Amino acid sequence: MKVHEFQAKQLLARYGVPVPKGGVATTPDEARKVAAELGGGSVVKAQIHAGGRGKGGGVKLAANPDEARAMAEQILGMTLVTHQTGPEGQLVRRVLVEEQTQIERELYLAVLIDSSTGWPVLMGSRAGGMEIEEVAANTPEAIHRVAVDPAVGFVPYEGRALAFALGLDGDLLRPAVALMSNLYRFFIENDASLAEINPLVVTKDGRVMALDAKVNFDDNALFRHADILEMRDKDEEDPLEVRAQEEGISNYVKLDGNIGCVVNGAGLAMATMDAIKLAGGEPANFLDIATANDPQRVVNALAIIGSDPSVKAILINIFGGMARVDVIAEGIIEAHKQDAVKVPIVARLAGTNLEEGLRMLAASPVHVERAEDLGEAASKAVAAAAGA
Ligand code: GDP
Ligand code: MN
Repeated sequence: MKVHEFQAKQLLARYGVPVPKGGVATTPDEARKVAAELGGGSVVKAQIHAGGRGKGGGVKLAANPDEARAMAEQILGMTLVTHQTGPEGQLVRRVLVEEQTQIERELYLAVLIDSSTGWPVLMGSRAGGMEIEEVAANTPEAIHRVAVDPAVGFVPYEGRALAFALGLDGDLLRPAVALMSNLYRFFIENDASLAEINPLVVTKDGRVMALDAKVNFDDNALFRHADILEMRDKDEEDPLEVRAQEEGISNYVKLDGNIGCVVNGAGLAMATMDAIKLAGGEPANFLDIATANDPQRVVNALAIIGSDPSVKAILINIFGGMARVDVIAEGIIEAHKQDAVKVPIVARLAGTNLEEGLRMLAASPVHVERAEDLGEAASKAVAAAAGA
């Protein structure tokens, strides 16, 4: 789960990570009020679940409260397009109004999980304020990493090494290491999967501060963080993904292609997506209906995929173990009755109660193009999506 910058900063502040003073506004008048309370110059920042806002016109400096109001008027209601939103952009419903910071240097600092070791890693770079992916691609030597043994925890001397590598020495060393330690503690105690500060700034008056904050949480651990779950903003999430979760399908991810997939098992779902790509197509989603011995789950999955206008064909790939093919067939027939699917269906069905499932489909008015194996299913789905 992602949260907004202002929420991430509230959480980080509780852990002693220095952040600018500020407040959230949903109208230009509120923004003016926040700026007036802060006094002096302010920054007005679009709150969406995506980075790159500065370049897209979503971060603006204001010299006084009236200017803050004018900036908020420009930003609120705009559809902000950044490299992370995709071309359709994201509607801005809130702004964060903060005191202006006099920046001396912009750095990068993050805690994330290194997927190859499973250990948390602190990552830092002097090249802050720009896309870290670009830095990693062009100048990988500019990125410094410190792996943290989770059994031992954050070790200050490793923090000092990272601070020196970032040029945070002298009077900056102590506060920099404290900030790293606090960021790490926040990351661990809240089951975060990413805590990224870009930029981490050194101010003209010699302080280190998180000027931006991007935090993601592990969905599987949210049950033990009620306070964080409350920060969820469904407006920022894909509507079909939200609907899928509400209907008990937790493993649905919308993608850019045109072949909808209904699969049981996450591994089989990945293999199905690979097979579609290999056959020259593009999957419209990842979906794992899990062991769905409930036809309604199949109906829900087909209805969600069927309501995605980019879907031109659906590939159903079921390997019935615990899941039964007859139950899947019942779901397909019911979805057809409800007119939930208007595109061709290709199905590769195998396993438990296959004969019964096929008999039910044959006796129904549903037209399902059958395939014997995954390769054949993928080719047929690609052909069907192309209108063949
Ligand atoms: P992002 O573009 O979505 O990553 O948004 P950021 O919060 O990182 O802001 C983008 C850029 O705006 C930063 O890298 C800074 O250069 C600039 N910026 C943000 N806040 C301030 C501020 O208080 N003072 C100054 N001078 N620049 C700021
Ligand atoms: Mn940023």
